[in-house]
Amino acid sequence: MIPYSTFTELHKALNSGETTCVETTQVYLSRISKYKNLNTFVEVFEQEALNRAKLIDTKIEKGIAGRLAGMVIGIKDNICFKNHKVSAASKMLDGFESMFTATALQNLIDQDAIIIGRLNCDEFAMGSANENTKYGPVKNPLDTSKVAGGSSGGSAAAVSAGLCFAALGSDTGGSVRQPAAFCGVIGFKPTYSRVSRHGLIAYGSSFDQIGPIVNSAYDAALIMEVMSGQDSFDNTASNLEVEKYTKTVFTPPPKRIAYFRQCLDLNILDKEIKKATERKISQLRDNGYTVDAIDFPYFDVLMPIYYILSTAEASSNLARYDGVHYGYRSEKNTDLESTYKNTRTNGFGEEVKRRIMLGTFVLSSGYNEEFYTKALKIRRLIQDKTKEVFQKYDLLISPATPHTAFSIGEKNTDPTKAYLEDIFTVQANLSGNPAVSTPISKHSNGMPISIHVMSDMFCEGILLSFVDSINKESNL
Ligand code: GLN
Repeated sequence: MIPYSTFTELHKALNSGETTCVETTQVYLSRISKYKNLNTFVEVFEQEALNRAKLIDTKIEKGIAGRLAGMVIGIKDNICFKNHKVSAASKMLDGFESMFTATALQNLIDQDAIIIGRLNCDEFAMGSANENTKYGPVKNPLDTSKVAGGSSGGSAAAVSAGLCFAALGSDTGGSVRQPAAFCGVIGFKPTYSRVSRHGLIAYGSSFDQIGPIVNSAYDAALIMEVMSGQDSFDNTASNLEVEKYTKTVFTPPPKRIAYFRQCLDLNILDKEIKKATERKISQLRDNGYTVDAIDFPYFDVLMPIYYILSTAEASSNLARYDGVHYGYRSEKNTDLESTYKNTRTNGFGEEVKRRIMLGTFVLSSGYNEEFYTKALKIRRLIQDKTKEVFQKYDLLISPATPHTAFSIGEKNTDPTKAYLEDIFTVQANLSGNPAVSTPISKHSNGMPISIHVMSDMFCEGILLSFVDSINKESNL
C-alpha cells in the first residue's frame, strides 16, 4: 500500500511528524523487492537512499528542508548521476560510471529529492516497448503479459506500480508519453529547451527532453518548476523565466481546442480508443470548451521525417562509442580499425545498429540532399504549421497511442510496425512544443486509454491545468 499518493499529502504528513522520509523510502524499497518480476529497476541505491532519507528527516525537523523533501524518484538509465553507473540499457556502456550529474537531476537533488535507483529502458532510448534492452523487457504492472511501452518503460511501470513516487524519463519521439499511456500514469514532455539536456545521454539532440512521469498534474508541475531553467552546461537551454507551474496548474485552462481530423480516421486506430476520444471531445464541449476538427496537411509525413532526422542525429551522437572512450571494448582486436568494428558490432543491439545505418545513409554524400536536407525543410514547414494552429487554439488533442499496451514479443519482429507507435507523439518533438499524455478511461481489455494534449511553446502551465481539470472531472 502506498500511504500518500499525492505530494501535497505526503508533504503534510512529513511536516506533522505522521511519517518520515526513512519510513517512506522503506515502503518503496520493500515494494521494489516485492515487484522484482516487473523488471523495472536495473539498480537500486538502497543504502544511499536510506542515508539520504535520514539526513532529510533532520532537515525537516530543523525546518530547512527543500521543496521536494521526501519525494522518492527513480531515474531512467540514460540520465547521468555522478559516481553511479549509467548504461542506456546497452552492453556498450558496460561498467561505465558517470563523472557528473545531469543538471535536471541535480536541480531535484538540490531540493532534497531522494534518488532510489536506475530504471530499465530501451537501448539508447530507441524503441516503443522497452524490449530493446540488455536487461530484458519491462512488464506492464497492469497486465504482466503486456509491454510497458518505451523507451521509458521502466520509469512508467515503476510509477504505475508504486515503486517510487515519480520518475524521470526522456522523450525524443514519445518515450515519456507513450509508456505513461500504456501504464495508466501521466507523462509530460516539456518544450524543447525548457529543461537542460546536460547529462542526458544523447539520442537526437534537437528532439531530446527529460520529462517527469507522475500520478497527478500537481506533481508534474512541482517537478517541472524545480527541474527547468537555464544552464551554463547546455547552451540550448532556454533563458526564459520558469513559470510558477504549481500556481498555474490550479488556474482554469483556456477553452479553445482543436484536433486533427486525420487522427481519428486513422485505420490503425483501435475502435474503443477512437470512441473514448470522441466521448472526451463531447464531454469537453458540454463543459464549455470549443473543440474544432481541423486538417493538418503534414500529418502523413510526421513519421518519416522523424525517423530520418532522429536517426541522422543518432548516427552522429553514437559515433563516440568506439571502444576507446566509454565502457565496453571487444577483445581480440588487432588494430584501431578492428577495435572500432568489433566493439560497435558486439556492443550495440540490433535496433541501435539499424538506426545508425539508416542515419548514416540519409546523411551520406549523394543522398543527403534527397533525405536529410529535404527532411529538415519539411520539419520547418511542420513547425510553421503547428505555430499557426496555436494562433487560433490553446490546445491540440488526439489519442495518445493507436492501441493499448500489446503483448510482450508481439511487435519486436517488424521494426516498421513498432515505428508507427509514435504516430500521435512525434509532432511535438519535431516542432518542439510541450505535450502530455493522461489517462481518460479503460479499454474493455482492462488496459488504460489516454489522450495526448499539446500546447503552444512554453505554455506548460496551460497543459498542466488542463490535465488537472479533466482528471478532477473524471475522478482519476
Ligand atoms: N519510440 C520512439 C523511437 O523509438 C521514441 C523514442 C524516444 O522518445 N526516445 O524513436
